[in-house]
Amino acid sequence: MTTTTTAYAAPAAKAPLERTTIPRRAVGAHDVLIDIKFSGVCHSDIHQAREGWGQAIFPMVPGHEITGVVSRTGPGVTRHAVGDRVGVGVMVDSCRDCENCRAGLPNYCLNGNVMTYNAVGYDGEPTYGGYSRQIVVDENFVVRIPDNLPLDIAAPLLCAGVTTYSPLRHWNAGPGSRIAVVGMGGLGHLAVKLAHAMGAEVTVLSQSLRKREDGLRLGARHYHATSDPKTFDELKGSFDLILSTVSAPLDLDSYLSLLRTDGALVNVGLPEEPLAVNMFTMVLGRRTLAGSACGSIQETQDMLDLCAAHGLGADIERIDASQINEAFDRVLSSDVRYRFVIDIATL
Ligand code: NAP
Ligand code: ZN
Ligand code: ZN
Repeated sequence: MTTTTTAYAAPAAKAPLERTTIPRRAVGAHDVLIDIKFSGVCHSDIHQAREGWGQAIFPMVPGHEITGVVSRTGPGVTRHAVGDRVGVGVMVDSCRDCENCRAGLPNYCLNGNVMTYNAVGYDGEPTYGGYSRQIVVDENFVVRIPDNLPLDIAAPLLCAGVTTYSPLRHWNAGPGSRIAVVGMGGLGHLAVKLAHAMGAEVTVLSQSLRKREDGLRLGARHYHATSDPKTFDELKGSFDLILSTVSAPLDLDSYLSLLRTDGALVNVGLPEEPLAVNMFTMVLGRRTLAGSACGSIQETQDMLDLCAAHGLGADIERIDASQINEAFDRVLSSDVRYRFVIDIATL
């Protein structure tokens, strides 16, 4: 039977989020019902709630950094049990049949995976995210939160964590590699922690030196301000991998020129406008410009296990649900250290 649950939703593009109720589907044979405890606030929530990426579906309940506890399971569920501490990230389904799904990469599903919110599921119904008390998700898109990771600091790992972990692994971050992280926000601060945990030498490229002490504490060896033009002269040709987590347009050429020969600039940030690039900067250094989308379910589990082994979670500011609109504004002005996480008990 379909149920209703309390949520925070944007009724229309750019409108403030408000408390409301939304439907949740009946728990199917392979579904789990999760009582949500915490939901992280990703910059993608803001891009979408404000229609920065194009037309969106309203009312919208954002939230794709979800942790909670399983409170019911369908009869065919084998991976999770009532009482388990679990998480849900950016996607809740995929076609499961295309080349990429069969290769374990539902994040690159060729028929389109179903995003946790602002999407329409294979059942034809809109999806609603984690700024809500309960969610029903197919067990294959639910991961296990290791026992030693508190659910609040684990929540941002479900998007920000795996979105930075996946390209770090794919481009072989490790001992001997020199990695720059551009932007030290939600994604960026976890990129620093994860790249450091993998043994890489990490440099932060931030707009200012305001967060330098934090960057060094989180594991960066070096920290530079991109507002200082000297930074780009000094660091020319320095990095094997640059991970840009910047949500706004960026001068790609200046960053490409910081790569060594064969280095890669990988964008996980998703600015709302297209960016230009000078091919000479790429061609002359045999440099790569790439992108990367969240991570697979297996990578999410691997990342959580790595975090558990290193006792690593996000640095968070816990907020009440009623503070969500203020939190959106603070994220937009890069005023968050380093992820807002909604305590769903306050919803
Ligand atoms: P965030 O917390 O706002 O962090 C973004 C950081 O970028 C800021 O902290 C700031 O770092 C820097 N920045 C912001 N505006 C800038 C500007 N005008 N010029 C230069 N730097 C600027 O956001 P987030 O949640 O980490 O998300 C970052 C981006 O990744 C968003 O576009 C989001 O949609 C995208 N995203 C993509 C995926 C994916 O699958 N690829 C997944 C999640 C999120 P400093 O203060 O250090 O300069
Ligand atoms: Zn996200
Ligand atoms: Zn597929």
